[in-house]
Amino acid sequence: MDASQTPATAANLVLLGPPGAGKGTQARMLQDRFGMVQLSTGDMLRAAVAAGTEAGQKAKAVMEAGELVSDDIVIAILRDRLAEDDCAAGVILDGFPRTADQAAALDDLMAEVGKRVDAAISLEVDDDAMVTRISGRFTCAGCGEGYHDSFKQPASEGVCDKCGGTEMKRRADDNAETVKQRLEAYHAQTAPLIAFYEQKGALSRVDAMADIDAVAKELTAVVERSTA
Ligand code: ADP
Ligand code: ADP
Ligand code: ZN
Repeated sequence: MDASQTPATAANLVLLGPPGAGKGTQARMLQDRFGMVQLSTGDMLRAAVAAGTEAGQKAKAVMEAGELVSDDIVIAILRDRLAEDDCAAGVILDGFPRTADQAAALDDLMAEVGKRVDAAISLEVDDDAMVTRISGRFTCAGCGEGYHDSFKQPASEGVCDKCGGTEMKRRADDNAETVKQRLEAYHAQTAPLIAFYEQKGALSRVDAMADIDAVAKELTAVVERSTA
């Protein structure tokens, strides 16, 4: 599909925020509501690790240590994914860009297909809340729906609300020590992107300390404004 066939509502969004801020949770909500495609570089990298690809083999130890995978690897993965047809409906980038070089690469990739980042939304949270959010996180192995031990339990224990699956999984890097490292990486390398998008006039900030439904409501309003 070329740019002229893209639906009028298609928008390309970036979700910024530290690990555990709620990027994945809210990206799935936006995908269901607006039809853009959620692209999580974390999910893509975990799939590459599981498949044992060359990129996955390089990324594995870096991810376990809570550090950032090299820009070359992540940009190449995202470039390939963005070239797929479904991305014409607009994308919600969850976990990308995470460095200044990734943000510059994203601008270039978008420009190549006559698009741009329409809005960058910063999910603003306190570092103190992140350990609790991350250590209670689990997801459905079948459909990827995210849950939390305290904040978002399935209606029926152990059964996914979305797909009825009963296999739940926890991430190897979701432990207290790694979270500290991941937060450091966020502050050093990713937080400066908030100013980058602010300077472009593309930034909105959302209070992500509120409960999941309240954050979803605020985000929906931001997306409606930026795609109007
Ligand atoms: P991220 O993708 O930013 O790392 P997730 O969307 O996976 O974050 O959320 C991290 C954990 O916190 C998940 O277990 C999720 O269910 C939970 N969560 C997400 N948003 C909120 C919120 N606003 N309040 C409480 N818990 C939340
Ligand atoms: P979270 O939102 O909880 O930090 P992600 O699933 O987005 O988790 O990322 C998990 C790990 O994958 C990161 O700690 C990092 O090692 C790697 N990763 C994901 N996205 C990127 C990226 N854009 N650049 C570099 N590394 C990434
Ligand atoms: Zn499921």
